[in-house]
Amino acid sequence: MALIRGKNTKPELIVRRLVYSMRCRYRLHDRNLPGRPDLVFKSRRKVIFVHGCFWHRHVEGCTRSTRSITPKSRVEFWDKKLAENVQRDRSNQAALHDRSWDFLIIWECELKDLGGITGRVRNFLG
Ligand SMILES: [Zn+2]
Repeated sequence: MALIRGKNTKPELIVRRLVYSMRCRYRLHDRNLPGRPDLVFKSRRKVIFVHGCFWHRHVEGCTRSTRSITPKSRVEFWDKKLAENVQRDRSNQAALHDRSWDFLIIWECELKDLGGITGRVRNFLG
């Protein structure tokens, strides 16, 4: 598994393409919003985050986030770093909520079911 992080990762491109096909206009990585959401639908006051399962600690049976793939060296460093990511995500989501923004989180592993994701995005954007 590649530990790629940051902007323009593949899962994000998949979601962008999907939203584009719905003819919804969005902005990317708005730094004025908590967490710099990946896709921002300003007129709808909605944002979408595309989260890598490893970096954002996806749980509930997600094999991409399990401890077994956490780097074996510097265990404490990784534990701390990933815990901080989760904490940061939570406070960003709370901050968005406080400002009356809606958010949808799409996990990397969920992109295997593109049909399901399409439905969720469509519902979300209304
Ligand atoms: Zn996952």
